[in-house]
Amino acid sequence: MPGFELFGDAERKEVNDVLESGVLMRYGFDAMRNGHWKAKALEQELQSTLQVKHAQLVSSGTAAVSIALASAGIGSGDEVVMPTFTFVASFEAIMMLGAIPILVDIDDTLTLDPEAVKAAITPKTKAIMPVHMCGSMANLDELQSICKTHNLILIEDSSQATGATYKERPLGSIGDLGCLSLDYVKIITCGEGGAVLTNNEKYYTNSDHFSDHGHDHKGNDRGAETHPFLGYNFRISELNAAVGLAQLRRLDEFVTIQKKNYTIIREALSVIPELTFRTVPEGGEESYSFLSFFLPDLETSRKAVKALKDTGIDGCFHYYDNNWHFIRKWEHLKDLKTLYPLSKEVKDGLKYLQTKDFSKSNHFIGRNISCLIKLSWTEQEVKERASKMVKAIQSIL
Ligand SMILES: *Cc1c(COP(=O)(O)O)cnc(C)c1O
Repeated sequence: MPGFELFGDAERKEVNDVLESGVLMRYGFDAMRNGHWKAKALEQELQSTLQVKHAQLVSSGTAAVSIALASAGIGSGDEVVMPTFTFVASFEAIMMLGAIPILVDIDDTLTLDPEAVKAAITPKTKAIMPVHMCGSMANLDELQSICKTHNLILIEDSSQATGATYKERPLGSIGDLGCLSLDYVKIITCGEGGAVLTNNEKYYTNSDHFSDHGHDHKGNDRGAETHPFLGYNFRISELNAAVGLAQLRRLDEFVTIQKKNYTIIREALSVIPELTFRTVPEGGEESYSFLSFFLPDLETSRKAVKALKDTGIDGCFHYYDNNWHFIRKWEHLKDLKTLYPLSKEVKDGLKYLQTKDFSKSNHFIGRNISCLIKLSWTEQEVKERASKMVKAIQSIL
């Protein structure tokens, strides 16, 4: 998946524009910047590529999630329902606002199980946040209808699914708010960066101000701007935005390469009757960043991952035994290890982590293997890889 694999002249040219003027900041310094506004330009291109009214670039995907929540007025003591299979960032971003992440089970889409979502709703629930993991998506129609019934906000964390679509609409543009990560290993990279997407004027204005100390960005004298409310610094730099500008223009190219590589490997693995593929909701089209499949049980999956490694196949993840993406091994979060005292509300709100049964998630993640699809492989390499994968998996069945 990572766009960094094809970093080249286009990215260098955009960065050079910034280096020549030396204006590294996205706001102000109008006379010095030779007309280059890389962050603004990238926001405009995100809007047209992802078919959304507003895009606010920020410093990371983690920041994007916190800002999206804050922009919708979600904070202290509010509950946000999210999946057990995610990246720690989505959990952290909720915690940062003093809100409470409520983890619920996933299904064979590897994202939120709508039934588990319904069961988790309480009077404190303010938002549902699907995390579109590994290039595919949650059942957004069902989640949207749950949100409507319970008057909740739908926030998509689509950090891992830029380039995927649901019923022909880009992921991240469908919920009330969408969040992207543009960090170094995502399909489109800025080096570090993120974006908040929304069609809602108020959420956009809030995101714009909140990510820059509350500045209202009116007029061209930064010192004279007013601050309607508290904000922080989650700005992206012009250098990072410049890289992303070149990368975003290559999104179609990247998805096309991934689809070709993914298809070769998927067709090869299809000969294994014990192997099934992740379910993609009806109307969904993946970004093909990963190929995710299931084997019959936990032990078989463990053996398969080892066999793949032993044959020299890298980039296949068994998240059940991995620290970053699944609740099972998040000891520091279950034990609430923080540098500073947490509020009583948050401590009480997270007690459920000690006892809640996630056996349904264990069932799916225990059997799941997700393999990264690279951009830089030659067709020959993909074919050899595919046949090695088939042999390695067959050898342990
Ligand atoms: C990468 C990622 C993030 C966080 O992005 P950063 O830019 O690294 O802060 C959030 N959610 C998901 C699902 C991610 O994969």
